[in-house]
Amino acid sequence: MFDLKGKTALVTGGSRGIGRAICEALAKQGAHVAVNYVRGEENARAVVTAIEAAGGTAELAGFDVGHMAEAETAVTALAKKLGKLDILVANAGISIDGLLLRLKEDDLDRLFAVNVKGSLGCAKAAVKSMMRTKGGRIIFVSSVVGEMGNAGQTAYAASKAALLGITKSLAREYASRNITVNAIAPGFIETDMTHALPEAARSELNKAIPLGRVGTAAEIAAAAVYLASDEGGYVTGQTLRVNGGMYV
Ligand code: NAP
Repeated sequence: MFDLKGKTALVTGGSRGIGRAICEALAKQGAHVAVNYVRGEENARAVVTAIEAAGGTAELAGFDVGHMAEAETAVTALAKKLGKLDILVANAGISIDGLLLRLKEDDLDRLFAVNVKGSLGCAKAAVKSMMRTKGGRIIFVSSVVGEMGNAGQTAYAASKAALLGITKSLAREYASRNITVNAIAPGFIETDMTHALPEAARSELNKAIPLGRVGTAAEIAAAAVYLASDEGGYVTGQTLRVNGGMYV
């Protein structure tokens, strides 16, 4: 089950957190994984080393997803170098939180540049390569707040909700090309992004999660492996919610 031998994959934001877990999980199933990062080259190298130590293969793919044209060019070059790109996991993301009254246009632009436009730039290049090889898997990492909203996260939620519209549209646009497009909507997951939360906020959060705990990056990675696999081949245009029951 979930055999990815012979597949090539790119995971954006693969140097840390959820992206790192996805890189390791795809590689464990046999995929050759390109680990994208923007600043964290050392972390990304550590991911490649860990994959190789576990018997897999991986390489670095540093580029800024926050510049759509740069992302598109980089993914095109990567697909050419690898000979094909079977799996794209558009995971790189940032959060800039705050109440609407404090929202700055620059912050909104940055959020959309990385979370939405960058993901689209990667998908555009991936689709071109996948059309040539007659198939592929695109997985966007959205968020539970893209569906349920969250006070203080309007701009972030908007960017993550945008990914769900993109997922549905691209799924319809490329189904005839044997390219599936899905989203994963994680709940609250233990990573750098959530470490910053104070203890009181974390315990409040746990109360709002029916399973009573935050999730792990590995639990998101398992969903990505499923969607990337042949076994997930009849799933497209869907949002796979991995959130401990926080939003049902
Ligand atoms: P994280 O620990 O903050 O890691 C973010 C990753 O994205 C890093 O690898 C970072 O690379 C990369 N990145 C950021 N900006 C980039 C850019 N411009 N170009 C290329 N890479 C960039 O985040 P995380 O918690 O693992 O979250 C991963 C994804 O899941 C995000 O899209 C996030 O919105 C989503 N998500 C997270 C949670 C959660 O609870 N953690 C919940 C729902 C959704 P560098 O190391 O080079 O900076």
